[in-house]
Amino acid sequence: MSEVVSYELRDGIGVISVNYPPVNALGKDVRAGLKEAVERGATDSGAQALVVMGGGRTFPAGADIREFGKPPQGPGLAEVIDAYEQSEKLVVAAIHGTALGGGLEVALGCDYRLALDSARVGLPEVKLGLLPGAGGTQRLPRLIGADAALPIIAEGNHIPAAKAKSLGIVDDVVQGDLAEQAVAYAKKLVADNAPRRPVSAMEVKISDPQVFENYEKSIARKQRGFLAPFHCIKCVKAATELPFAEGMKRERELFTELMGSPQSKAQRHVFFAEREVARVPGIGKDTPKRDIKSVAIIGAGTMGGGIAMNFANAGIPVKMLEVKEEALDKGLSVIRRNYENTAKKGRITQDDVEKRMALIQPTLSYDDLSGVDLVIEAVFESMDIKKEVFGTLDQVCKAGAILATNTSTLDVNEIAAATSRPQDVMGMHFFSPANVMKLLENVRGEKTADDVVATVMDLSKKIGKVGVCVGVCDGFVGNRMLHKRQAEAGALVAAGASPEQVDKVLYDFGFPMGPFAMSDLAGLDVGYRIRQERRKAGDPEAQETTWLDKLAEQGRYGQKTGAGVFRYEEGDRTPRPDPEVARLIEEYREEKGITPREVTDQEILERCMYVMVNEGAKILEEGIAARALDVDIVWIYGYGFPVYRGGTMFWADQVGLDEICDRVKTFEQEIGGKQWKPAALLERLAKEGKGFHDL
Ligand code: NAD
Repeated sequence: MSEVVSYELRDGIGVISVNYPPVNALGKDVRAGLKEAVERGATDSGAQALVVMGGGRTFPAGADIREFGKPPQGPGLAEVIDAYEQSEKLVVAAIHGTALGGGLEVALGCDYRLALDSARVGLPEVKLGLLPGAGGTQRLPRLIGADAALPIIAEGNHIPAAKAKSLGIVDDVVQGDLAEQAVAYAKKLVADNAPRRPVSAMEVKISDPQVFENYEKSIARKQRGFLAPFHCIKCVKAATELPFAEGMKRERELFTELMGSPQSKAQRHVFFAEREVARVPGIGKDTPKRDIKSVAIIGAGTMGGGIAMNFANAGIPVKMLEVKEEALDKGLSVIRRNYENTAKKGRITQDDVEKRMALIQPTLSYDDLSGVDLVIEAVFESMDIKKEVFGTLDQVCKAGAILATNTSTLDVNEIAAATSRPQDVMGMHFFSPANVMKLLENVRGEKTADDVVATVMDLSKKIGKVGVCVGVCDGFVGNRMLHKRQAEAGALVAAGASPEQVDKVLYDFGFPMGPFAMSDLAGLDVGYRIRQERRKAGDPEAQETTWLDKLAEQGRYGQKTGAGVFRYEEGDRTPRPDPEVARLIEEYREEKGITPREVTDQEILERCMYVMVNEGAKILEEGIAARALDVDIVWIYGYGFPVYRGGTMFWADQVGLDEICDRVKTFEQEIGGKQWKPAALLERLAKEGKGFHDL
């Protein structure tokens, strides 16, 4: 027998077991072993029926992703599954752990399915820009009906055992020793003369033919731009219209199309990047981590409140410190309101609300912070105030406590220098709203100790964030690139584009909103204040006034004032073009002696995107981000960069760095400015015909 699939006779039942740690992925050896085992079972006169299961921690949890894009070897999965479905002996799939993707498809090739109560099943291929390509799209609708199968295939979420039973995906849910239960179950089926039940021979049920169109409409917004969910729908539709064999052909065609698509390549990159990002180069797995059992947050404002919620959600007690009682009360009431709203939507219970609120302890006294393991400062963005806070923390916090700042723009090294323990200081840059946004830029200072970095990266995951380790610079990775793009967007409008044209180009590219809708959301006063500070400080690049200053000076701060670059109707966040803004822009151009010209969509896309790529290259060159994949993850989780384009740097590699470098050089000549000075790294890679991900 194969090394990775075993066969043994147990009490008259042939038990096939996959042993290919860690997750019994369906690589070529497992596929060959599974096929061999079912053939052996067929000829084993001692076996009345067969059971197939996973050894170790799970039923096969999916395809072997490392084989993707390589020439197929050994029997294909569909062929293996056919062998199970056509076996003359009845086959029971016994599921524990996670039967995902190809794993569930194997189970669907069996006559009956039994699951441990802790098991989960699902067809998550869509999340890699693919579809279940071994009959999943044809068998699941036959087993449970097209209506129920649609979201499972097109959204790819995991389904717990109990739900799988109520949907009819599994026949029964059990507890205890699975192998024992499965053998008993198979024996009972034999004793009851239970029929074989090949799923491919079942009729597909469907509530009404409109189901597909309605479902497509329901996901249109969330899945905008993605190819795979819509291909999944086509497959399920095919299952309702075509005989099984033809449906399988259709599934194969659409699967092959997706497998070769740039989207799936990008989504697979993101899948790996998201895992890789947790590993910080130079910080080994064996780096010790500090215990974080309690946390304090300084400042109960917009960010402080959201940050506190992350810890309370993870069951970690939080002390929240403010200077005044009123600020504390306000902060706590905002948190409560947030939790109550979540409870109203049914996502948590009222009991959860109370438990989480009880974990957040307000205080006005630093003495209460002497025992905490981690402090995150989220006070006003002022170096003087932050230094004072860190000076005090240095006095009161126990040795070994990690002292973090949520600053967006200030120098983490300078903040660290206000303490006698800069090795314990680090940035933890949450994104707003901090309880929702998944990105956490963990800013490593010059003196931050390795175990502090390791602890904070580990903690990020525990509180449900994707932590990316970055270095100290103005704006870190995300905002540093964003500021370049926003300035370029502003310049494009000054040159002749309209704000709505610029926004549409980037929205169509796949961002959740355009640059100006985004600044209206953040508040135009924020950027205005930053520019004013820079002007005061004599920054030569910030001296020129912009048309956006004009808007801010008129009190047009964006959504919060009902008008910014766009206008907003009461209770509606839809940005609408405003003739008043068009007039102000016209006035600005006249003042500056600019004759507006036609700006093409292509120019908008190139300037807004390439300026970011160029800055990203500088970020890599300076070591602010260790790898291109870190930059990609920052953009995907911090700014909604379309996942199907793989992140800023991945996308750049697909466009081709030679092409981008040429355009950057042209813009340097035509427009000028530091932002268009080509990064040395970009020039080098372009010349070598390489990409950022080849580094
Ligand atoms: P905010 O004004 O909403 O909240 C600041 C809070 O800090 C206020 O409640 C204030 O009373 C309190 N505070 C001020 N001085 C204090 C002191 N000495 N001790 C204790 N509490 C004090 O500001 P915010 O938007 O929450 O920003 C906080 C920090 O987070 C800033 O450094 C900011 O740059 C950063 N940040 C903000 C965002 C954002 O989108 N708002 C995003 C990322 C990071």
